[in-house]
Amino acid sequence: MDLLEYQGKQLFARAGIAIPRGRVASDPDAAVAAAEEVGYPCVVKAQVQMGGRGKAGGIKIAADAEAARAHAGEILDKELRGPHGEGPFVARELWIEEASEIDAEYYASLILDRAAKRPLAMLSRMGGMDVEEIAERDPDALVRRHIDPSAGLGEAEAKQLAIDAELDEDVLDGVASVLVQLYAAFTDNDATLIEVNPLIVSSSRDVVALDSKVTIDDSALFRHEELSEIHDGPGEDPQEQMAKERGVTYVKLDGDIGVLGNGAGLCMSTLDVVANAGGKPANFLDAGGGSKADAIVDALEIITSDPKVKAILFNIFGGITRGDEVATGIIEAYQRVDPDMPVVVRLDGTNSEEALGMLADAELPNLHVERTMLGAARAVVELAG
Ligand code: GDP
Ligand code: MN
Repeated sequence: MDLLEYQGKQLFARAGIAIPRGRVASDPDAAVAAAEEVGYPCVVKAQVQMGGRGKAGGIKIAADAEAARAHAGEILDKELRGPHGEGPFVARELWIEEASEIDAEYYASLILDRAAKRPLAMLSRMGGMDVEEIAERDPDALVRRHIDPSAGLGEAEAKQLAIDAELDEDVLDGVASVLVQLYAAFTDNDATLIEVNPLIVSSSRDVVALDSKVTIDDSALFRHEELSEIHDGPGEDPQEQMAKERGVTYVKLDGDIGVLGNGAGLCMSTLDVVANAGGKPANFLDAGGGSKADAIVDALEIITSDPKVKAILFNIFGGITRGDEVATGIIEAYQRVDPDMPVVVRLDGTNSEEALGMLADAELPNLHVERTMLGAARAVVELAG
């Protein structure tokens, strides 16, 4: 689960890291009230899970109430696109914070490096641009160090990182403390990513987290009740929220072809085959082992509630779940929800012949049966187009 900037900053503040004073607002009136509290100039920041908000017009400085109102209205109305065309994202909330005077912008992050089975800390004096850009422009300016999880990150080790990154002499201790605090936030919250970009040195030479990007391990959410509450709040994608409520494994993607498979591996290969056939999947949805009517109804409701979806591909391999059970599920699901768009079914494995016969007999409207995965992918791409 990805936190919004202000949610991540709240974790930072709890860990003792300095952040600019700020307030959340979800409409222009509230934005002005928030701005009056934090004072001028203030920064109006779109709360969307996207990088490069600054360049996209999602961050604006306001010198007075009038500007705060205007910026708030404009940003809330705007469809924001990420640097690589991600989105569009629409902010439902704004974070209004006191403007900072910036002497230097650094980059700091912690990620869980699964291959190394350790957290990886990264630090650079070239903040403000994204980490790929830093690595490209000046790879030596990005200091990387794995952290032994049994030992943690101590002040001395953190300070060495800051020295190696060639940060300003007078803030080495300040940055080291922030790194130690970030590491505590990382482990205490079961984060898999914490990025502070920029971590600034203010004109008074204080080290302040000006931005935050935090990802929490979903599998650990059960032990972070306070974070689960954030999760249910606004800002989350409606399909992902629906999926969460119904216990369905769902990941939203950019395209227009809804995909349902049983088993994560099959789902992944289905995405590949759809892409191969020239289509763009709208999601990854694993109906799991069950694939009974309830599961298929849930899946259909989630997929069809995404307005971008134009056609759906069911790719099912009958194993422990027999094909005829899945067919029964599909037929029952059609009695409960009308997908109202073409659905292509490819069903193989245990009892698949029986299953295909049942589907043919049911004569479901706009349901197309295909024998092979590639044939099904081609069919659904054509139907979506
Ligand atoms: P991002 O574009 O989504 O990464 O959003 P950030 O919060 O990192 O802001 C982008 C950039 O806007 C920062 O790198 C800063 O250069 C600038 N910025 C953000 N807040 C302030 C501020 O309070 N004062 C000044 N001078 N610049 C700011
Ligand atoms: Mn940033």
